[in-house]
Amino acid sequence: MALIVQKYGGTSVANTERIKNVAARVAKYRENGDRVVVVVSAMSGVTDNLIKLSREIMPLPSEREMDMLLATGEQTTIALAAMALHAINVPAVSLTGAQAGIVTDGVHTKAKIMNITPKQVHGLLDGGHVVIVAGFQGQSPEGHITTLGRGGSDLTAIALAAALKADLCQIYTDVDGIYTTDPRVVPNAQKLDEISYDELLELAGAGAKVMQLRSVEFAKKFGVIFEVRSSMNDNPGTIVKEETKSMEDVVIRGVSLDKNQAKLTIVAVPDRPGVASQIFTALAKAAINVDMIVQNVSRTSDTPVTDLSFTVDKADLLKAQKVIEGLKQEVGYRELTANEAIGKLSIVGVGMRSHSGIAAKLFETLAGNGVNIDMISTSEIKVSVVIDIAKGEEAARTVHEAFLE
Ligand code: ADP
Ligand code: ASP
Ligand code: MG
Repeated sequence: MALIVQKYGGTSVANTERIKNVAARVAKYRENGDRVVVVVSAMSGVTDNLIKLSREIMPLPSEREMDMLLATGEQTTIALAAMALHAINVPAVSLTGAQAGIVTDGVHTKAKIMNITPKQVHGLLDGGHVVIVAGFQGQSPEGHITTLGRGGSDLTAIALAAALKADLCQIYTDVDGIYTTDPRVVPNAQKLDEISYDELLELAGAGAKVMQLRSVEFAKKFGVIFEVRSSMNDNPGTIVKEETKSMEDVVIRGVSLDKNQAKLTIVAVPDRPGVASQIFTALAKAAINVDMIVQNVSRTSDTPVTDLSFTVDKADLLKAQKVIEGLKQEVGYRELTANEAIGKLSIVGVGMRSHSGIAAKLFETLAGNGVNIDMISTSEIKVSVVIDIAKGEEAARTVHEAFLE
């Protein structure tokens, strides 16, 4: 008898028919004698629509109220999923994040889980119930509803699996597992049997939205082995776990394209000690994650100035602009420009540590296809470039072909 945490994403609960399918799958596991905790997302499109509604009222709404609004999406699906189980005579109870004991910090819209005390979950499981938990949400110590960042139901599932010491954690989605690249963009993408936490971290950080980045960080930290698989069939999925020796034989594990970043350039910033610190401290204080940073060579006129470019999530663009505009007097730059038409293309693989010439081959492949590189960043197991978004998908296909086909 195993304790299993299963997470179903938005497309897997997109309508009542799919929710009934989820219930049937859960019932099968339960008939085998397993105890099941189900984490569900909002129906696909619901969270986006709630965000759209809020923007119709004002461009930068209160983040506390955003969380109040966004948490409703998952509350709809937990209740419907519980009803779908009742309809086939399986005892089930739905719980909000707070009821499941998920306590977070107070950083609205991207709260971090601080601890989980799943007392009610244990009690209900002991009473023979399937427990259905709303993904993506928690409660701050002050009692406010919080959300865990886009895609945050993955984090709810991984964190609950760790807290409950589950035997198995399954992430059900609309593809058969983790592929060498997004199978919707590159038809030749190959499904992977396994991938290391570090590789998936880099892929997720590079925009492969198959798993939320923070959920993979959490899984790595607490050693939660999980499987990503399809809710539409019974095919085996992809196992995510600590790196093994044989994984290094593969140089490139995957390619990803992130279309959700925007580039900000601060033009003619004084080139003196302390300026970068002023700018990035202010962004950090506003809980804005900065990804790539590029500083140009200094130009000397009367006082040396430089251009500073960096990328942020598109969702944070308005907030970041506001923060930087607030520093205009203090820092004394000439102009702030924003570009949303960028794509970040990345190649990832632990094998990069022991192979050379990977970046050169990437640049050559892009050049051969007339793709200009705007920014570059690397880690031990990743190379990322910022390119024109219009060329993004075509470039992803070409790069996949060069490295993985
Ligand atoms: P869910 O709603 O189940 O959380 P998501 O839409 O968040 O699902 O994530 C699944 C999607 O991730 C897939 O439909 C696929 O288009 C996309 N994706 C991007 N990169 C990859 C990849 N390397 N492997 C698999 N899927 C990927
Ligand atoms: N519903 C939330 C979102 O769309 C959380 C999730 O689906 O994981 O981001
Ligand atoms: Mg998701």
